[in-house]
Amino acid sequence: MSRYTGPVCRLCRAEGVKLFLKGDRCYTEKCSIARRETKPGKSASSRRGKVSEYGIRLREKQKLRRFYGMNESQFRRYFGWANRMAGQTGHNFLQLLEQRLDNVVYRLGFASSRNQARQLVMHGHFLVDGKKVDIPSFFVKSGHLISVIEGSREVPVIKENVEVAGSRTIPEWLEANSEKMEGKVLSLPTREQIDVPVNEQLVVEFYAR
Ligand code: SF4
Repeated sequence: MSRYTGPVCRLCRAEGVKLFLKGDRCYTEKCSIARRETKPGKSASSRRGKVSEYGIRLREKQKLRRFYGMNESQFRRYFGWANRMAGQTGHNFLQLLEQRLDNVVYRLGFASSRNQARQLVMHGHFLVDGKKVDIPSFFVKSGHLISVIEGSREVPVIKENVEVAGSRTIPEWLEANSEKMEGKVLSLPTREQIDVPVNEQLVVEFYAR
């Protein structure tokens, strides 16, 4: 299944939550969710009332998948890995998603969205522990240092992102140094440190059915 390339605000409106897919606009009053727009394609009066148990789990899974901008086959593969790891599958799953380099680049404020972070990583703008990594799905580990390569520090989009990133909260498991254009992974995130608007247990139940 290919990646969704249509209007992204539509996805947030369909799920009824902010999925932060459109960069800086997501943090302004222009956000469609902030303006309380209705679900796409349906008037409020035409929505179906009762949602099945399956439907609830499906929506939660879709919400999480869209939040990280992944396609279904990739997403299911991550779930399989999480399921085989020791510990709670739901937390393992979220932790694996957070460990992706594109997510960390976004969380550190070098990109305005995960989608943009993916593009910037693929274009080779970042180093991990001094080595160029252009694979968005690369898993960062505790202690890794992520930095913008010397020749990319003047790239306008990266500079602008770093300038406005001060207004965003950097998760506690990461440490950003905007002057040096680098960030460190202090530890892998606990569940409390992962701010996703999703009940991951419902996603586990969706795949376990
Ligand atoms: Fe659009 Fe971002 Fe608001 Fe979602 S959170 S509706 S992508 S502006």
